[in-house]
Amino acid sequence: MILNRVHSDRNGIVMVTIGHPGGYYVYKVKDCAYPGVYYVLVRIGADTYKNYIYIGAIVGGFFKLTRMSKLRSSRPEVKVFARAFGYLCGKSSLPEGFNVHYRTRCKYCGKRLTTPKSIKLGYGPICRKRYIHSNERRITNG
Ligand SMILES: [Zn+2]
Repeated sequence: MILNRVHSDRNGIVMVTIGHPGGYYVYKVKDCAYPGVYYVLVRIGADTYKNYIYIGAIVGGFFKLTRMSKLRSSRPEVKVFARAFGYLCGKSSLPEGFNVHYRTRCKYCGKRLTTPKSIKLGYGPICRKRYIHSNERRITNG
């Protein structure tokens, strides 16, 4: 796959969080039945596992909207992906203020991480409270 194969899970899905000056979006890029074609979905709302909507396809190395796209090209979710796409393919650098994270799993509980902050730290906010604070307590208690 054009997005590093190392990042795709066994279902051929690559999760990508793209930070941009206004926040971040979470994308799912999936293999589909046609060789060289990938579907791009974006997460809408807070649910980590559901609420992904189709925004377009990668066809022949280009990201394009299709008749099935649920968002218009003017939507920021689409613009951010389009702007970062060259970087995802390893062709160009990121626009100013952008950063890309391939989603990894929490070091402690194994759940998927989505926010740029959690990915950077390696664990989610709940585990951060649970484990880090208990370790601190253990250390201070001797
Ligand atoms: Zn966790």
